[in-house]
Amino acid sequence: MQSTDEFDVIIVGAGISGLYMLYRMRRLGLSVRVIEAGGGLGGTWYWNRYPGARCDTDTLEYSYSFDEDLQQEWEWPERYPTQPEILKYLNHVADRFELRRDIKFDTRVEAAHYDEAGRQWRIATDDGAEMAARFLVMATGSISAPNIPAIDGMDSFRGPIHHTARWPHEGVDLSGKRVGVIGTGSSAVQAIPVIAEQAAQLTVFQRSPQWSVPAHNRPSDPEMVAEIKADYAGFRARNRLESGAQLSHIPANDFSALDLSEDERQRVLEARWQLGGFPFFGAFNDITVNPDSNKVTADFVRGKIGEIVEDPDLVDMLTPEYTIHCKRPVLDSGYFETYNRSNVLLVDINAAPIQAITPDGIRTTDADYDLDLIVLATGFDAMTGALLRIDIRGRDGLPLSDAWASGPVNYLGLQVSGFPNLFTITGPGSPSVLTNMMVAIEQHVEWVTDCIAFMVENGHASIEATEEAQEAWVAHVNEVADATLWVSCQNWYQGHNIPGKPKVFMPLPGFPPYVEKCEEVVANGYEGFILA
Ligand code: NAP
Repeated sequence: MQSTDEFDVIIVGAGISGLYMLYRMRRLGLSVRVIEAGGGLGGTWYWNRYPGARCDTDTLEYSYSFDEDLQQEWEWPERYPTQPEILKYLNHVADRFELRRDIKFDTRVEAAHYDEAGRQWRIATDDGAEMAARFLVMATGSISAPNIPAIDGMDSFRGPIHHTARWPHEGVDLSGKRVGVIGTGSSAVQAIPVIAEQAAQLTVFQRSPQWSVPAHNRPSDPEMVAEIKADYAGFRARNRLESGAQLSHIPANDFSALDLSEDERQRVLEARWQLGGFPFFGAFNDITVNPDSNKVTADFVRGKIGEIVEDPDLVDMLTPEYTIHCKRPVLDSGYFETYNRSNVLLVDINAAPIQAITPDGIRTTDADYDLDLIVLATGFDAMTGALLRIDIRGRDGLPLSDAWASGPVNYLGLQVSGFPNLFTITGPGSPSVLTNMMVAIEQHVEWVTDCIAFMVENGHASIEATEEAQEAWVAHVNEVADATLWVSCQNWYQGHNIPGKPKVFMPLPGFPPYVEKCEEVVANGYEGFILA
């Protein structure tokens, strides 16, 4: 491979992490190129344009904290930002810090090979260009590689099929249409109420019901905003460590369900239900580790589903059996209410699996459903998909796909042994998707920035995780995960949604101890890494 352009750093992806990484690298005085497959920036918020797409973390937390003027000046209209609002914000950030000039859009990285002699990463893109850089930062996102299920007859369907994460930019006119949605995860739960209002008929094909709680979106409260902005740095610091970078700044209560009487439990749960959003899952401090506390919470939501949904058969179909909070929690705006509409039909594809997509719609083992349009709300090959879809090869030509054949292995979720100078932002083995992603991203970008600055200052050519540190880290991640209820059901955290994917719990529970460990590693001279 012949190198044409050389940089100090190549960053793959211009989403939230790629943009911040670029900002930081420039401030170190390094030459940087960001390569982005999309026609615009924003990563997940560029691609996910399905009806109802919205973040489920409060806006005041789901935003960058690195620039005081930026966070003071930006105004969010609602409690949870819509996809267009977040995209507007990220475009503003790019303009404000003049980031665009170093981003190459509409370009997909196909291969990244480590050239040991030249101590460089050599990158090939789909437009035939070649580039090289000393450092390669994969800012490719944790939930970015869409999962398109292999269903027989997909090509035969007469109408359009859209994945939620590849929704047409020009929008889709659903009026008068018979729409089928496959999947009932976070994306579907947001899209279904909106689609039901627009379409003539909506048929939802459900493999697993959802423990969903109301988001209670509302306009931003000026008083609360002013209070937070009066000490934004303090607010961020408290969220980051005291609240454990959770998806809400309202900390979990400091007691178990088992400490309370039945009346007190119901009162606490009802108060949290009324708050809406992720605070509900913090009604008790042990919902992710204590099956009894978990069951109290699940029973409460079971009761709520029963109150909202009118048809008792539908209540049964819509009520999960698995531990609550085991699949990634879902927030909704009128999701269960939607099943009371006369134009909505729920199909249980566990009872009658999908056999094929036909020219006219979807065929299950029970019936044929005539459709004009199919929505695949089938999620992502999470955490590893975006990395493994690129031909990444480390020392001695070792493919990442071989190194990760039995599941992802790395050190701190940041570096893989055998892949010098390659960093993964919010990689598997780090808290990432179990936290407010903004916080996890900023922490990783800052750690990598400090590491690269240290290397430049001290004349180190490369940094690489040792095999021993990596083995110990993987064992640690498994040990922490095994003590939680996250391993008690089928979820994408463990790759269950992707046929043939190794079943390994990928994120690391516990942000504050993770940050401490990252800091300790640095204080001990990058313990567990080889600096050459
Ligand atoms: P998801 O949570 O993985 O949901 C995918 C849905 O499709 C599940 O119901 C899954 O069933 C079903 N499914 C997958 N493959 C299928 C197949 N072959 N046949 C039938 N059904 C199938 O994906 P998502 O809803 O796109 O969300 C992914 C993650 O992105 C979320 O968990 C969240 O972290 C993030 N997200 C966040 C927001 C937000 O901030 N509001 C919005 C959207 C997404 P099973 O459960 O049985 O696998």
